[in-house]
Amino acid sequence: AQEKETRVFEAEVSQVLRLMIHAMYSNKEVFLRELVSNASDAIDKLRFEALADASLRADQGEPVITITIDKEARTLTIADNGIGMSRDEVTRSIGTIASSGTREFLERLSGDQKADANLIGQFGVGFYSAFIVAERVVLTTRRAGHQEAVRWESRGEGDYTLEAAEKAEVGTEIVLHLREDEDEFLEPLRIETVIRRYSDHISFPIMLVETLEDGADHDGAEKDLEDTRQLNQASALWTRSSAEISEEDYTEFYRHVARAFDEPLTRVHTTVEGRLKFTLLLFVPSARPFDLAMGGQERSGGVKLYVKRVFIMDEAEVFLPRYLRFVRGVVDSDDLPLNVSRELLQDNRVVRSMRQTAVKKVLEALEELSADAEKYATFWKAFGPILKEGVIEDGDRREQVASLLRFASTSTEGAEQTLSLAQYIERMRPGQDAIYYVTADSYQAALASPHLEIFKARGVEVLVLTDAVDEWLVNHLSDFEGKALRSVARGALDLESLGESSEEQTSEEGEDKGDAAESEESSESQEAPAPWLGEVGELLGERVREVRLSKRLTDSPSCLVREEWEIGERMRRILEQAGE
Ligand code: ADP
Ligand code: MG
Repeated sequence: AQEKETRVFEAEVSQVLRLMIHAMYSNKEVFLRELVSNASDAIDKLRFEALADASLRADQGEPVITITIDKEARTLTIADNGIGMSRDEVTRSIGTIASSGTREFLERLSGDQKADANLIGQFGVGFYSAFIVAERVVLTTRRAGHQEAVRWESRGEGDYTLEAAEKAEVGTEIVLHLREDEDEFLEPLRIETVIRRYSDHISFPIMLVETLEDGADHDGAEKDLEDTRQLNQASALWTRSSAEISEEDYTEFYRHVARAFDEPLTRVHTTVEGRLKFTLLLFVPSARPFDLAMGGQERSGGVKLYVKRVFIMDEAEVFLPRYLRFVRGVVDSDDLPLNVSRELLQDNRVVRSMRQTAVKKVLEALEELSADAEKYATFWKAFGPILKEGVIEDGDRREQVASLLRFASTSTEGAEQTLSLAQYIERMRPGQDAIYYVTADSYQAALASPHLEIFKARGVEVLVLTDAVDEWLVNHLSDFEGKALRSVARGALDLESLGESSEEQTSEEGEDKGDAAESEESSESQEAPAPWLGEVGELLGERVREVRLSKRLTDSPSCLVREEWEIGERMRRILEQAGE
């Protein structure tokens, strides 16, 4: 299989390519960021593999990313001495759309170019972004541990060729034959600006090599002159002091590690030095990453793990609990062994300590973020339902997580979840001692609930819970700051102490007797149970446990209620669906 072969891209690749070139044109310099980001990842991977496989160490030079400008040939070359790719890996990584999110992404394309451009911007473009500025891309790569190299070449128009090649060093070299109007990328200053802007955080040196005009020497022999200089600081960003890191650097670093394209909302950057030494640089994104937004909640969780500045693994999930799985970033430990495995991380005292600090710091950062209503609303829309899981998962921090939750209520404007439990408590009516909530499939449906009538009449605010996770949430959050959470649809109501109702209330009667729901009737003042209650009871038969008079209604003639101990309606449906 060493001969030259021509292969067609997967149909989706061609489609992405065309759209991307169009969509990204106004922001075309991002191709450099993408290629440098890949080069950096490749060097990380080689360092990591060489830890376990001594034979690879011979291949490992001083890590460096080189950008070479050749004005005469009109090429821009990005090279690294990282892990490289085998022939198979080239086909798999570069001829196909690997990520499962991509297909779904393509299905969402509307044909409306403006909307699609936006989508692509959020999605990111990776290697293919080279075609924004290049009419032809030639990639030559040699996998660490392999002797033979492979050359991949394409015009980005449906097919590519693969052939065996020679390459002295391991790593990857990507030659961009620039399109006619892209001469700006032959200007060293332009390259320098772009690298400073997007790639200053890269831990390895990025060198700019400029091939100067051929100087003909005395003998008339052509001689290339080269000018080489380093464009970045080349130290791991998280090791620098935060005072020396600009907001832009943080943002671009976040985009690099998270493979994301949004602005992070907040971050934690902290170094702990004591019994253990470690650094955390963690970000809270402002948008759900693409695959998360597509309903695949779980794939991209976790942070990058470094040990003493050496990359060890992606998506290390043990450093944060599941309910903070939207957090992205790096953790760097001085105490873990370089050969640490996923299994070893599972039950490890160093990890536990780092995780403790990470959770504490992230929750504090969210707390701080909540002072900015607009930013917090962005956070809450993207990740609120995930954070809610913390109340269920993290018994130790239940109250702290609960204080970060936001809800819609009968008094908030519309379905937007902006109200904290603390605010609710502040607004409670004098004499009110519980936090009331109603669960429903939608805000509108909840507001129509007859259960709310008495609350409306008494001016008592009710939280409106409509997320799938809410039934579990309220099962685990029995109280907040000493106030019980109570469903409007369950059990006996006790709004009497509020004492403001004009209605004469009758007493509810009856004890729990069975499993069925109850039906209630409202009635004007009555001392004893009305005889017709029995008749209604007979009529409804098995369908209800009991018919009783209610004080919860003001307009509707009757409604169904549950006993305090019964599972909620939505929960019941969910369990039914699950076959329980
Ligand atoms: P991503 O970086 O998000 O995976 P890209 O399109 O940027 O997506 O790259 C696709 C894949 O191609 C990478 O995951 C990697 O496996 C491979 N790749 C790209 N550039 C390089 C490189 N310089 N060295 C080694 N592998 C690379
Ligand atoms: Mg990439």
